[in-house]
Amino acid sequence: MSPGEAAFDFTGRVALVTGAGRGIGHAIAQALLETGAEVVGVSRTDESARRLAQLDPEGERLVSFAADVASEQAAEEAVGAALTRFGRLDILINNAGQRSKRGPISELDISDWDEVQATNVRSMYLFCRAAERPLREAGPGYVVNVGSLAGFFGIGYAAAYSASKGAVAQLTKSLAADWASSGIQVNAVAPGYIETDMNADLRRDDPDRARAFGERIPLGRWGRPDDVVGPVLFLCTPAAGYIHGVVLPVDGGVLAR
Ligand code: NDP
Repeated sequence: MSPGEAAFDFTGRVALVTGAGRGIGHAIAQALLETGAEVVGVSRTDESARRLAQLDPEGERLVSFAADVASEQAAEEAVGAALTRFGRLDILINNAGQRSKRGPISELDISDWDEVQATNVRSMYLFCRAAERPLREAGPGYVVNVGSLAGFFGIGYAAAYSASKGAVAQLTKSLAADWASSGIQVNAVAPGYIETDMNADLRRDDPDRARAFGERIPLGRWGRPDDVVGPVLFLCTPAAGYIHGVVLPVDGGVLAR
């Protein structure tokens, strides 16, 4: 049983999850489906869109498609799919993200900077903007943005990524302040070291460094996508109703050290 199944019931709720084809987003979309929600999932590639679609082959409670989340069209299409297919939108999980290339800032191409900001931050702005009205009408509506520990401290050789995650934190707080009175709750989670494709190369090619990261985690292990699911779902329930604008670390204690 997944963490989602154990404690939550989203029957009758409609959720939109970006980056739902793999990793953390896939685990969140799966848990939302398992707990009764209807789900729209967006991935970048057809392959990932198909992988997600396999969770509900008949497509009764799931729409999965491929698009670049940094495009206005993708945001409009995804929100439109929720409204057309399922009649409402209650939950927006802005999870899609990408790493920056590693290296000193003087050696990086500006296109890498632009792409990382577009995927990690511009997408959140676009999806929040497109979803505002239906989320307000859902009352309460919930937004959970996926930030990173990299939004709390700088990461050497990953300035573009770190800057983008700092922006996610500030966007979250600003929208929370703007939207609390409209019945939309906006929060973020900040995962620590989670085993996904995003860092598979590090774990494969530099196991000593990966182990060193693990040793910095008080809980004594890297996280798994399921570790992020429970906190995200919690932030989409009335139990979290008085929590607005937080960036919740989900990191096995890294920030506490
Ligand atoms: P993965 O690389 O496993 O998955 C990323 C997902 O985002 C994929 O489904 C990918 O689509 C999608 N995506 C990326 N760019 C776009 C785009 N431009 N348009 C549409 N979809 C896109 O990463 P994780 O699951 O690890 O990461 C999820 C989130 O968690 C990210 O925001 C990441 O920054 C954050 N995070 C992850 C940490 C970790 O240790 N893993 C730590 C801290 C934060 P496709 O599958 O089609 O490529």
